[in-house]
Amino acid sequence: METLLPVQTEFHIGIDDTDSRLGGCTTYTAALLFQELVSKGFKPVDFPWLVRLNPNVPWKTRGNGALSLHFSLEEEQLQEVKKIAVAVVERTSDLSQRSTDPSVVFLKGRTPSQLVEFSIRALHDILSVREARHIADAVGVETHLLKGSRGLVGALASVGADFSGDHTFEIIAYRTPENIGTTRRVNHDSVRRMDAMFRGLTFNNVDPETGRVLICPHGPDPVLFGVRGEDPASVARAFGQITVGEPIERTMIFKTNQGTDAHLGCHRTIDALQPYQSTVVVGRVSDAPRILRGGHVIFRTSDETGSVDCAAYNATGSVRETAFQLTLGDSVTISGGIRSRPPGELTLNVEKLEVTALVDVFRWENPRCSRCGSRCESMGKGQGLRCKKCKTHLSKTSRVQTTDHRKISLGVYRPPPRAHRHLTKPASRDRIHRPTFFETSEASIGQTLESLVSISVASS
Ligand code: ATP
Repeated sequence: METLLPVQTEFHIGIDDTDSRLGGCTTYTAALLFQELVSKGFKPVDFPWLVRLNPNVPWKTRGNGALSLHFSLEEEQLQEVKKIAVAVVERTSDLSQRSTDPSVVFLKGRTPSQLVEFSIRALHDILSVREARHIADAVGVETHLLKGSRGLVGALASVGADFSGDHTFEIIAYRTPENIGTTRRVNHDSVRRMDAMFRGLTFNNVDPETGRVLICPHGPDPVLFGVRGEDPASVARAFGQITVGEPIERTMIFKTNQGTDAHLGCHRTIDALQPYQSTVVVGRVSDAPRILRGGHVIFRTSDETGSVDCAAYNATGSVRETAFQLTLGDSVTISGGIRSRPPGELTLNVEKLEVTALVDVFRWENPRCSRCGSRCESMGKGQGLRCKKCKTHLSKTSRVQTTDHRKISLGVYRPPPRAHRHLTKPASRDRIHRPTFFETSEASIGQTLESLVSISVASS
């Protein structure tokens, strides 16, 4: 007799806003839940997704990260999975903190395009909880709010994330509870060695200018360190090279949009700018750069709809240096976040600066001597010019126009890795074209997922 296999269905879980500045981390909640579900035999179809959203949202805790998990389940398994998910989120959320509004969402079946569009907008706009509720109802997403409703935006957006253009991976090691809040014992020399071994396959381990190790956060959260890279096998191997002086509670590999510039995909005209957007503006410099207290550089950019102040902060290194050399009429493409500072006036904080055309800068100066070539000087008003060196009088009395040498060239300028946001695409990833370069490793993800998941589960 023929036995019918149970029908499998896609099942997606989105989680956000479980942590506060005093502790916790939504990636930890997701790692715990993923490992608990896998250890109970539920079948994941991908690594957990760590989805970074608009980094200019003012009420984020740290890096505006939301998490989603993706499984293939039988109909009768759904209730149990939902129960476990809500219980894990409850167990790992600090509900006593005013700013923590944990949310868990469940989607059965394929991700609808409406949710993908919502997720794309959550990368560069401010979205309302009202709209999130509306979308959830429209596409049949089940929502669980543990306190307030703000976490709904991130939880929904994490399920709808679109990684088809570009994505990366991060392996995160978590600390045991008794060590949280103490200095992280990670051997920095081992990180520098790992960085040299895995260059091109991992990124942002070490700041190249200062030698500073960048893989450890600084707060009281459970993350010991995270290594970012191009594929799961490379980050797992890089992880193995790091010497650690404290126990690791568990590790998890996440698929993520970190390091992809995903938040800088929306071009806007200046009249459409609103506070807290992440945006790209194309225009011309309309007010020369000036330096503010603290060394920050401000210049004004205009397009056909208006003009906006652009701020290149001291920490942005070559972005600031280049901004200072801009002049009226230069063509620029500026990517960054909108702030209302002072209230009512918008400023575009520059995260990436592309100089697309430089104007010629002219200078008036005295001509050179026709006999010895030295620079001439004026002999007084209406009295002509004379060579400074050989004293020859010049018949020509007018000054000549010369073209100044511009100290900057066309190109894209980014901050150094130590000043990167999670989403900033490092220059080292510029030559990576995901769909072709990683075709083979993507194809083998299905096979490697299981073995890598079991590595993570075994180390917990
Ligand atoms: P961590 O990175 O440490 O996990 P976090 O920085 O992600 O913390 P959260 O505590 O998750 O901060 O707070 C971010 C809040 O902002 C969440 O409630 C999320 O739903 C909401 N949010 C995220 N993106 C947007 C957006 N584009 N518009 C409106 N709200 C958003």
